[in-house]
Amino acid sequence: MSSDDAAARLRRLRREPPPFRRARVRSLEPLSERMLRVVLGGDELDGFAIEAPASSVRLLFPPPGHAEIVMPTWTGNQFELPDGERAPIRTFTPRSFDRDRLELTVDIVLHDHGLACDWARHARIGDQIAISGPGRSEALDPDARSHLLAGDESALPAIGQLLEAIPPDRSVEVHVEIAGPGGRIELPTHPGATVTWHEADGDAPPGDAIVEAVTGIDELADAVWVAGEAAAVQRLRTHLFDERGRSRRSVTARGYWKQN
Ligand SMILES: Cc1cc2nc3c(=O)[nH]c(=O)nc-3n(C[C@H](O)[C@H](O)[C@H](O)COP(=O)(O)OP(=O)(O)OC[C@H]3O[C@@H](n4cnc5c(N)ncnc54)[C@H](O)[C@@H]3O)c2cc1C
Repeated sequence: MSSDDAAARLRRLRREPPPFRRARVRSLEPLSERMLRVVLGGDELDGFAIEAPASSVRLLFPPPGHAEIVMPTWTGNQFELPDGERAPIRTFTPRSFDRDRLELTVDIVLHDHGLACDWARHARIGDQIAISGPGRSEALDPDARSHLLAGDESALPAIGQLLEAIPPDRSVEVHVEIAGPGGRIELPTHPGATVTWHEADGDAPPGDAIVEAVTGIDELADAVWVAGEAAAVQRLRTHLFDERGRSRRSVTARGYWKQN
């Protein structure tokens, strides 16, 4: 390998995420028909901290057929299990952290079928898991007088955190797409917030109701935060940047999952 190739390879390597901390399920509480609150605790969470809303953690699940997790190694690009398989990891919002009890709360959408949602459906107190993070988050723009928060069920934990973080004298317009009436959860109250729940049309692509809601707003808020299915978020990026001419600084748009 030439020195140029080696340098290019190094540039491609991703920064190693924080190490995994082992934890166990301490409690399970349904927040809606489609969302389960899971509290994870353990001594290895000592030093964990959530510094800003809407950040992320990687959760490492036991490989299919195993009861306990298998610690992966970082290859420079991804976490791999000892057998060379990609480690069973998914990304979630660290909803809250209790420093005294060393407990991290995550809220998991119970969609049709997937590694994480299947694990959550069958989870029991004491089940093992591991946590890496938190990862990056965007700081709230202190100058924004108004906020728009829009997303699907996967974005609800982040929307909840943002509602808690936005100062009470700001206005907040919230739009959430849920799969059905049973998808509503109680969101934190904010004196300046209006929350609109949109039930998804089962025949439409996921996120369609959010795209429709946001594109239909006459006067957009100073700061816009959207998250949900990647293609829907991409449609909103195009709308916000190309059609509305919004600055990159005033918009956070994040694909949280991809419809396969
Ligand atoms: C920064 C960040 C924060 C996130 N925070 C949360 C959070 O707090 N809570 C949460 O539940 N999710 C959150 N997500 C989304 C979560 O990572 C994905 O939904 C993930 O794919 C779920 O994994 P799974 O193993 O259940 O499904 P996968 O095995 O990844 O996917 C299996 C199938 O399910 C579909 N699918 C995946 N997610 C959904 C969904 N939400 N609704 C409908 N179909 C889906 C996929 O298209 C695929 O066909 C977050 C993602 C990011 C990037």
